[in-house]
Amino acid sequence: MQPMHDIGLEIRHTADRGRGLFATRPIAAGSLLMEMKGWLAKGSELQVSWLCLQVDHDLWLCSNGDLLDDCGNHSCEPNAGFVDGRPVLFALRDVEPGEEITWDYSTSLSETGWALDCRCGSPKCRGVVRGWFELQNEERDRLMPIALRYLRPGQPSSRVAFSLRER
Ligand SMILES: [Zn+2]
Repeated sequence: MQPMHDIGLEIRHTADRGRGLFATRPIAAGSLLMEMKGWLAKGSELQVSWLCLQVDHDLWLCSNGDLLDDCGNHSCEPNAGFVDGRPVLFALRDVEPGEEITWDYSTSLSETGWALDCRCGSPKCRGVVRGWFELQNEERDRLMPIALRYLRPGQPSSRVAFSLRER
C-alpha cells in the first residue's frame, strides 16, 4: 500500500467509514490530487473481490484494493472532483491539513440499482448514494462540472477522449 503521495495525502482509518484519504499539508484549490489507477475491464468480467470505478459505459477501472485512490470516501458535498472529465481528482477548494479528501461516487457511476447509505453529514446529503441517472435533475446539474466526461451530455466517452492507460 502506498502510505503517502506527492501532493500530501495519506491513508488513515476512520471511526465509521473504514479507510479514508487525508491531507497531510495545505492543498490549494485546483490542485491535481490523484489519477485513478487500475486495470480496465468490462462489466461481465468484474470479480467480487475487486474494487471497481466505472469510467465509461460498460468499462471499469479495477484494483485489488491496495491503491491510494481506492481509499477515497464518498461525500454528497465533496472537496474533490473530476473537473476535466477524466478519472483524475482535483481539489475543488482549499483543503486544510488533516481534512479528509472526498468525492461524489454518483459522478462516476451510470449503472442503475446500486445504492449506498450515506453518512457524509453534509447539509446536501442525499441519504442514499445512487447512480448518475437515478439522481434528481437538480442534483445532476449541480454535479455536472465534476462528473466523468462520459456522463456529460454531448461529450465523447472518456476512453475515446483520453485513451485511458492500463497499468
Ligand atoms: Zn451524503
